[in-house]
Amino acid sequence: MNRAEFDAACATLELGFAISQTSGRRTTHRNKTVGGHPESWHLLGMGRDYVWDPWVKDDARALMRKRATQLGLRVVSEDDHDHIQPEQSAAFPRSAA
Ligand SMILES: [Zn+2]
Repeated sequence: MNRAEFDAACATLELGFAISQTSGRRTTHRNKTVGGHPESWHLLGMGRDYVWDPWVKDDARALMRKRATQLGLRVVSEDDHDHIQPEQSAAFPRSAA
């Protein structure tokens, strides 16, 4: 997955679910400030964080995870948001959230 493919996949999720992006591409400084992993996908513009509208039920979250997997994305649920990154990328074979 390249950056353009990642952007398109995220756009598909954004249009289909009640999610709002709270973080995308970060500078090294910003990533360090927010406690991001030193090799975060956010540094490459291929990591995004989303929050859900408060009324969203768990079944919608499960459906989004399924759709994300179909799109080649990995969802990592954090305390207050869902982090999304490529499932894998030949160009950047990272695993850090
Ligand atoms: Zn993230």
